[in-house]
Amino acid sequence: MTAINSPSYIGRFAPTPSGHLHFGSLVAALASYLDARSVGGRWLLRMEDLDPPREEPGAQAAILHALESYGFEWDGAMVRQSERHDAYAQVLDRLFQQGLAYACTCSRKQLEPYAGIYPGLCRNLGHAREGAAIRLRVPELEYHFEDRVQGPFRQHLGREVGDFIIRRRDGLYAYQLAVVLDDAWQGVTDIVRGADLLDSTPRQLYLQELLGLAQPRYLHVPLITQPDGHKLGKSYRSPPLTRDQATPLLLRALRALGQNPGTDLGDASPGELLAWGTRHWNAALIPRTPALPEAQLR
Ligand code: GLU
Ligand code: ZN
Repeated sequence: MTAINSPSYIGRFAPTPSGHLHFGSLVAALASYLDARSVGGRWLLRMEDLDPPREEPGAQAAILHALESYGFEWDGAMVRQSERHDAYAQVLDRLFQQGLAYACTCSRKQLEPYAGIYPGLCRNLGHAREGAAIRLRVPELEYHFEDRVQGPFRQHLGREVGDFIIRRRDGLYAYQLAVVLDDAWQGVTDIVRGADLLDSTPRQLYLQELLGLAQPRYLHVPLITQPDGHKLGKSYRSPPLTRDQATPLLLRALRALGQNPGTDLGDASPGELLAWGTRHWNAALIPRTPALPEAQLR
């Protein structure tokens, strides 16, 4: 693999500070880092702090501390989504004025029977924006892309998603809008993240198309799951990434990604493991599955 400087690759890690990083986050961070660094690319850090009510106090500092103690070095200053509201507002206004987005006043209870797929009730009612959620009209089209690990992925936006929220009723911007605008603004060429976001990707492709933005390449790594099949999270054996666990957890994360660090690396420092991973990175070895039970990796 060539390691010459390739500014044509810009990757990123984009944690949400709703809690500390856990082993699943480490796998995603490591994959995006190694995929970028192995081709001499840039690696950015973006704090996705769009939702203050769900932010855990101290989580941002804990995330930065964990990344640093696991040897990760990012390029440039970290970007916070909480500082990008003007950019989101501008695009939202435009979409609204163009009739591509509309205000929705439906209550949660009203939408209960529709199993998460918005049936378009407010589409043509011309509600005012104040105090309403803003939804993006989706086309009756299937969107598809070729994921570098998971292969072809397709989703019919009208039938499987429906018009989706880009700004919540409480005024908070939605992840789908912010992520697309920020990835484009930061020039991100390659998105490497957990497979729980596979089914968000078609919505993001549609937004990119609508806004005339370049489409990045996508690589979704297996989601590390609990015994009950859920994403690893606060509830089950997912302690914070402490410094004293850095070497064993980085080794386990490398193996979860199909890489083969030798047993001689058992005493390596985090920096040495990241350097080894960068030299030996082979994305073709990543397991082609959307989910990996954590218990299998011990
Ligand atoms: N902030 C998202 C999360 O923590 C990741 C967004 C992305 O990688 O697109 O799940
Ligand atoms: Zn509605």
